[in-house]
Amino acid sequence: MMKRIKILDKEFELSLPAAKVQKRIREIAEEISNDLKDKDPLFIGILNGSFIFAADIFKKMSIDARITFLKLESYQGTESSGRVEQLIGLNVDIKGMNIVILEDIVDTGTTLQATINLLVGYEPASIRVVTLLFKPDSCKNDIHMDYIGFNIPDNFVVGYGLDYKGFGRGYEDIYSLVNEG
Ligand code: 5GP
Repeated sequence: MMKRIKILDKEFELSLPAAKVQKRIREIAEEISNDLKDKDPLFIGILNGSFIFAADIFKKMSIDARITFLKLESYQGTESSGRVEQLIGLNVDIKGMNIVILEDIVDTGTTLQATINLLVGYEPASIRVVTLLFKPDSCKNDIHMDYIGFNIPDNFVVGYGLDYKGFGRGYEDIYSLVNEG
C-alpha cells in the first residue's frame, strides 16, 4: 500500500485503504441481499467508474441476481433546449423490475438524478441506489440513497475504478488529491 501516488501532474495521498473498502462492501452486500431476497433484483452498474465496485459487490451478494451496465451520455441538443441526456446500453426490459443502481461516486448528484429520471420512464417496480462514495457537502440534488459506502469530503479522489484524466483506475486503494500550496 503506497501512501502517496503521482498521476500525470497531480499528487494523491491515501484516503481509503483497500481492506477498509472491501470490509464495507461486504457489509453492504449483506444488507442488500437481505433486503432484496425475494425481489429478483436487476443490478445496473453505471460506467465507467463503477466497473470495479460493481464487480466486487456483485460477487459478495448472497442472492442470485442479474447485472447489466449502462452509460449516461450527455450531448448538446440540436435545438436551443441545451443538454440532452441518454442512457446507452439498456437492452433489458426493466418494466416491473426491482432495480438497484450501482454508482462509484455521487458528487453534485447530477449524473445520478439524470440516470434515475431516465430509468423511471421505463416503469420499473422500484429503484434503489447504492453508491460507494458520497460527497454530502457538494451534493446539490435531493436524492434518496439507500446504501452509502463512505461519506467523504469534497475533494477529488482516484483509484478503485475512479480516474484522473483516464488514469489511476487500477489502484486497489482510494487516494485523494493533495492540494498544492
Ligand atoms: P456528479 O457531480 O454528477 O454527482 O458526478 C459526476 C461524475 O463525476 C461521477 O459519476 C464521477 O464519474 C465524476 N466524479 C465526481 N467526483 C469525482 C472524484 O472525486 N473523482 C473522480 N475520479 N471522479 C469524480
